[in-house]
Amino acid sequence: MKKLNFNTYKDQQYSGMGGLRTVKYEGKCLICGNNTYRMYNDAGKDDTDCRGPLGMFHTNNNLIPSDYGYSGDEVILCWNCSSEDSQAYHKALKHLQETCIKIEN
Ligand SMILES: [Zn+2]
Repeated sequence: MKKLNFNTYKDQQYSGMGGLRTVKYEGKCLICGNNTYRMYNDAGKDDTDCRGPLGMFHTNNNLIPSDYGYSGDEVILCWNCSSEDSQAYHKALKHLQETCIKIEN
């Protein structure tokens, strides 16, 4: 099995976990700056199992602006930073509030 490269922005193929997956670059983690990736299965659906080959480079706990009443880009967090104490979360939330547009109700 070919090893995944965590220094690329290109799509990669991964065979395992019951089928072929496409690994796509998601962006850099806001906190640590590491590249992050997501896996997609045949149907194009996101595979959110962090126990897979992406390990700490996996992202599935991004902050989604609409969850907080904002519009804009997701705040990207790697698995490690999104699993840390609340300091990383509050820093990410502050970034979201500063870079996204508040939706008026
Ligand atoms: Zn990180």
